[in-house]
Amino acid sequence: MPAIQLNHWYQPEPEQVQESFQAFFASLSGATVIHVNGEDATRTRVIVTLLHGNEPSGLKAIHQLFKQGMTPKTNVKFIIASVVAAKTEPVFTHRMLPGKRDLNRCFIAPYDDLQGQLAKSIQELITEYQPEAVLDIHNTSGSGPAFSVAITECEKTLALASYFTHRIIVTDIRLGSLMEVDFGCPVVTIECGGVQDREADVTALDGMMKFLNQGSLFEIQQDMALLKHPRRLQIMPESSIGYGERLNPQLDITICQDVERHNFGVTQPDDVLGYLSPDGLRHFCLDSSETGKRVEDYFAIQNGQLKCKQPLRLFMVTTRADIAKSDCLFYFVPLSD
Ligand SMILES: [Zn+2]
Repeated sequence: MPAIQLNHWYQPEPEQVQESFQAFFASLSGATVIHVNGEDATRTRVIVTLLHGNEPSGLKAIHQLFKQGMTPKTNVKFIIASVVAAKTEPVFTHRMLPGKRDLNRCFIAPYDDLQGQLAKSIQELITEYQPEAVLDIHNTSGSGPAFSVAITECEKTLALASYFTHRIIVTDIRLGSLMEVDFGCPVVTIECGGVQDREADVTALDGMMKFLNQGSLFEIQQDMALLKHPRRLQIMPESSIGYGERLNPQLDITICQDVERHNFGVTQPDDVLGYLSPDGLRHFCLDSSETGKRVEDYFAIQNGQLKCKQPLRLFMVTTRADIAKSDCLFYFVPLSD
């Protein structure tokens, strides 16, 4: 018996699907599974989206697909997770419900709060469906290109990612995210691009259509660029962060307003990332992975400016102070280790 009951919607016909995305979204009353029959009913694929309530590209793509009507190659279960967080005003701005845990950090015991129970229910349902592949569709909070994240670099995983993007990050960081769960099949997180980027909606829809219309899934669709084992630059719990073009003395950390332009480019030691007091590096920490590395190994303060010590590839850079605080400011991979 799952911990929390999800709503179930079976085989929506195009005429049952609301014309506008807003009306479609309004019709969902909580976490929902939409079941669609495919040509081959012996196989099932799962697409999860809206684990984060401020990341709508996946749900917009699902709405488009249902309006068009579709017969996918296999059965598909679409799982729409944080409907309540997404509906909290202003809509599509809350990553999670205010004061509650991030749902994509709850796919690991203990499951004792509501978010944990919802994660457990989703996990149990996916396990029951015995899928051949699981996709988890997200947006980044900052503007930037699409990329994917997985915990393995096997060929099947690369193939799944390649329907959406040529960029894949293989991470050894464990946070309790959905992709860390062993469903007996490949699981990939797709970051379609920034919530504000129209391109992200196109990436989500195109990628899903290809994924759903492909009979044999595991052929790599394009040359892939692999980035391995990123680190996270996190903010200490008691430290404050904001954005601006010069040091804001009210804050511990001021990050450059245009910092998201570094997403997936090469950040050089000359580049200014932000402004800090001379001992300001103490306001940062790295993820807790046992690498023996410290913030000082990668970053330095020169004349009050935050810089990197070696060329880095930054991604998932956020310009939202709340997300920088609750999750991280960005991920990075050294380019000359
Ligand atoms: Zn997300």
